[in-house]
Amino acid sequence: MTPFHGPYDDGDYADGNALAGPLREIFAVDLTAASGRCAHCGAEGPVALLRVYAHAPGLVARCPSCTEVVMRLVRGPNSAWLDLRGATSIRIPLGVE
Ligand SMILES: [Zn+2]
Repeated sequence: MTPFHGPYDDGDYADGNALAGPLREIFAVDLTAASGRCAHCGAEGPVALLRVYAHAPGLVARCPSCTEVVMRLVRGPNSAWLDLRGATSIRIPLGVE
């Protein structure tokens, strides 16, 4: 494992603790109601409509339009790995829109 590192430091940031509140809020909601945009073809739609393959290590969710991988989720005993490189964005509805 390579930890975060880098010679450049402008000091203009908060540390990862600033993510605690937002992440808690985000993952307290049903992400299947969120809308994801495929990084490969640009298609966008509800996460619930992705094609999830559970026979890979973990879960692999593919774009129903182009079948490229949008999301991977691997759950270990003490950690989860969420790979979203295949999604340009995830829009998560929070409360009343
Ligand atoms: Zn796609």
